[in-house]
Amino acid sequence: MNKITNHMPTAELQALDAAHHMHPFTENAALARKGARIMVRGEGVFVTDTEGHKILDGMAGLWCVNIGYGRTELGDVAKRQMDELAYYNTFFQTSHVPAIALAAKLAELAPGNLNHVFFAGSGSEANDTNIRAVRRYWDIKGQPEKRVIIARKNGYHGSTMGGGSLGGMSPIWATGGMIDGIEHIGEPNWWAQGGDMTPEEFGLMRARELETKILELGADKVAAFIGEPIQGAGGVIVPPSTYWPEIQRIVDKYGILLIADEVITGFGRTGNWFGSQTLGIRPDIMTIAKGLSSGYQPIGGSIMSDGVAEVLGSHGDFNHGYTYSGHPVAAAVALENLRIIEEEGMIEHVRDVAHPYLATRWQELTDHPLVGEAKLVGLMGSIALTPDKAKRAKFALETGTVGYRCRERCFANNLIMRHVGDRMIISPPLVIKPEEIDVLIERARKSLDETHKALVADGMMVAG
Ligand SMILES: *Cc1c(COP(=O)(O)O)cnc(C)c1O
Repeated sequence: MNKITNHMPTAELQALDAAHHMHPFTENAALARKGARIMVRGEGVFVTDTEGHKILDGMAGLWCVNIGYGRTELGDVAKRQMDELAYYNTFFQTSHVPAIALAAKLAELAPGNLNHVFFAGSGSEANDTNIRAVRRYWDIKGQPEKRVIIARKNGYHGSTMGGGSLGGMSPIWATGGMIDGIEHIGEPNWWAQGGDMTPEEFGLMRARELETKILELGADKVAAFIGEPIQGAGGVIVPPSTYWPEIQRIVDKYGILLIADEVITGFGRTGNWFGSQTLGIRPDIMTIAKGLSSGYQPIGGSIMSDGVAEVLGSHGDFNHGYTYSGHPVAAAVALENLRIIEEEGMIEHVRDVAHPYLATRWQELTDHPLVGEAKLVGLMGSIALTPDKAKRAKFALETGTVGYRCRERCFANNLIMRHVGDRMIISPPLVIKPEEIDVLIERARKSLDETHKALVADGMMVAG
């Protein structure tokens, strides 16, 4: 076979992709008919495809490229580490400098007593670690019955059997089943589910479902509660202000471990190092991945409290680990990524520049006939599409139809904005500049206009 390069015609690359490459979360036969978009390079907040389109990546890849594309320092560090020590394991009483340095740095950055890192290759793997860790924790404490983990409908915690079971997405459960001992409560999605309640009342109501569930199961059966500080893949659902304080009160009262899945909300996304700081949560364990390396290398992990780590380390082996736990190249790249975020003041940039400017411009979109609410925490945002704002109404079409149409218009207008159902979501690289925010908003508005026009033309919505 000839060498495959990005100078080959797009159609040939697409045909090879369709013939041999199985895409995640994709109906591959349908994609084969249409052809994948093929990206070839990235610079700052833009990616370029084989057709030469320069696309503003409003999603930072999959919520991960926090420092933006094209930072060659990370490649330099990777090469140096590969040349020096490409791999060694951390299983058999051995360690290496990148894993040590990264763990120590994470302990410094993480709030409170979160001082101990168990490395994984991804967010899903880290959540599998967490399932084992919390169950083992209660085992050692002499309460082996405490093994149920309570999570939330429409939460996302990865797609391994463990991560997918913690997550609250039924299409994933329907794909091969779930593991046992996971229970789900409602999500704090006021826009879609709040009815006539105020957001504050609804937030309390949803949080109290945790207490009801604990009492139903018995606190002596419940190991932990897991939640994303702000649901990401579920549609950037920002919880009402009453929600997390009440969850914290309940887990404290019943002695339930709290796992904050910070895979998206970590590393500057919300304007602090961690979403737990922004939302005032005190977790016992944090799941990390994505922005940890800005996606330049696959790496994830669990940051555990002194108390959890002490128990896990005290009664024989913790029988769990991955060949690539703390992989030296990935760890060295992650460390360089954290250095860049810190030394270049990227979190201050989010807090003082990018968030305030985007917040104003994002809110302006609510004057569009299709847009109900606009939410933004740090650089994680969503808009709800609706045919009737006052009623927070759903479209008559199947949920997600309008969102999908809007996403297609965005793509055509060189903007990557994802849809979750009929919410449009963004999570751009942290380095986005005000003039790039203007480009994002201009393309978003154009795409919304085109979507609206098409809906009116198809008789699915009245003009207005
Ligand atoms: C992406 C994500 C995961 C899974 O991470 P992978 O690296 O894809 O396994 C877990 N939790 C949250 C909140 C995520 O957004």
